[in-house]
Amino acid sequence: MSRGIGDRCLRVKTATIGGRNRRYRVTVPEILEVETYRKQAEKLLGRRVADVIADDDLYLKGSTNPETLCRALVGRRVAAVRRRGKLLLLDFEDPPATSGVAIRASESNGEDSSPVEAHSQTESEGVTLGIHFGMTGRLVVDGDVSIDRLLYTSGEHRPEYARFALLFEGGGELVVSDPRRLGRVELDPDESVLGPDAMELTREELVEALDDSRAALKSRLLDQSRIAGLGNLLVDDILWRAGLDPHRHAGSLEPGEIDRLLAAIRDSLDELGERGGSHTSELHAERHQGGHCPLDGAELRRDVIGGRTTYWCPLHQH
Ligand SMILES: [Zn+2]
Repeated sequence: MSRGIGDRCLRVKTATIGGRNRRYRVTVPEILEVETYRKQAEKLLGRRVADVIADDDLYLKGSTNPETLCRALVGRRVAAVRRRGKLLLLDFEDPPATSGVAIRASESNGEDSSPVEAHSQTESEGVTLGIHFGMTGRLVVDGDVSIDRLLYTSGEHRPEYARFALLFEGGGELVVSDPRRLGRVELDPDESVLGPDAMELTREELVEALDDSRAALKSRLLDQSRIAGLGNLLVDDILWRAGLDPHRHAGSLEPGEIDRLLAAIRDSLDELGERGGSHTSELHAERHQGGHCPLDGAELRRDVIGGRTTYWCPLHQH
């Protein structure tokens, strides 16, 4: 039964890589965008994978390759859709018990049941697909680009930007569309390299993330191994709300400042999520030369901290 699985996987060549097309606007999917992808992907729950289209080797991370993807995913149902930081995770249920019985029954034929078969079934448990969206990745489920409200892109889903796809039995598909091709797909990603998720961050976890570090506060909040999910725009918005100078040493915050920072993280994620994404911050509109603080009118400063462009207000951020 499993012999045909590899044959069923499509190998379609990507026609064009969209690197020269500049019509899209660069928007990095942050935690709010990926949370929207997660909700969108929930409609896939219970569907069984019929085919995997993974012909773009560059898009496959680490040891993941088209063959391992096909073998791991074809025939399995989506059991859960999760998110950790900016990483979208699809858990697949074990193959139905009935097919295992059928395999054993058909292969036994009076012989001893094969220990190899039993072993391979044990090994194949708990398959998870991780999707990293990079700078411009979008999720398209059943042709629905519901992220358009969040990402101020042209709204088109161009077939030439499709880097990876799952096709489901009975129709429907999950497509990762990515003009700049910087996202990645990975089997069983190592989730332990990511810190606690920013949307569920506790005060204790924030204190632990800041540690006694002399790293810049901004850099520390961007470090995905400390807190998973915060990107450049969100961190600038959070520090602006909290009134904290992004250059401060992460370990220098007083207890009251840590309280303010945690409240700002929660407020920023709640409000910008409600409004439609990290680019909806009042601060975002002022991210340009001569931009002013929406709170007090002071001219914003533009610095590069940890390699990232940072806008902040020297009047109220200390
Ligand atoms: Zn200000």
